[in-house]
Amino acid sequence: MSDIFVITGPSGVGKGSLIAALREHRPELQLSISATTRAPRLYEEDAVAYYFLSDAEFDRRLAAGEFIEHANYAGHRYGTLRGELERRTRAGTPVMLELEVQGARQVRDAIPGAVLVFIAPPSLDVLRQRLQARGTEAEATIAERLAVAETELAAREEFPFVIVNDVLDDAVRELEALYLSQRDGAGPAR
Ligand code: 5GP
Repeated sequence: MSDIFVITGPSGVGKGSLIAALREHRPELQLSISATTRAPRLYEEDAVAYYFLSDAEFDRRLAAGEFIEHANYAGHRYGTLRGELERRTRAGTPVMLELEVQGARQVRDAIPGAVLVFIAPPSLDVLRQRLQARGTEAEATIAERLAVAETELAAREEFPFVIVNDVLDDAVRELEALYLSQRDGAGPAR
């Protein structure tokens, strides 16, 4: 039985949409809110989308050992606060973390029971189209994220579970089945 689920994969692959859809079906599933130094997008609220921190505040918390994992991603920093995760797991309900690949590796090492799921795009071209269609990033940022995505895609084999997000509804069903089997299943995560 597992109560920490890590959803990883390249930016634009649909991790957020998948998690949102799964949580509609499974409202007990909590989402850990990450900290970041990047600027909020127009629709993003502090302490809902992220805890938006200054670089100095991120450094302070890092030095105080407050992060379970953290990473630099496309020029900004992201991390999972220990307190945030503990508060949610203490409630006894399963928690999801949405992380880029470096962070997922750190959680794999720090929390051996965590279930790690890599979300892959059908192809790099589809990923490019999705990042462009999303319209949340400037052209230069998209190019930077795509360059990172190429190396992230190579990490797919490191993760025990891979879901290809081609048709969203199918991927949600697959993720839900995996979630239920790992949450209730007897054995440790593969
Ligand atoms: P975005 O800027 O698009 O919100 O996120 C950029 C990347 O950082 C995405 O791949 C996202 O999943 C990842 N990310 C979000 N929160 C965290 C976190 O707490 N730690 C790590 N390592 N990555 C994160």
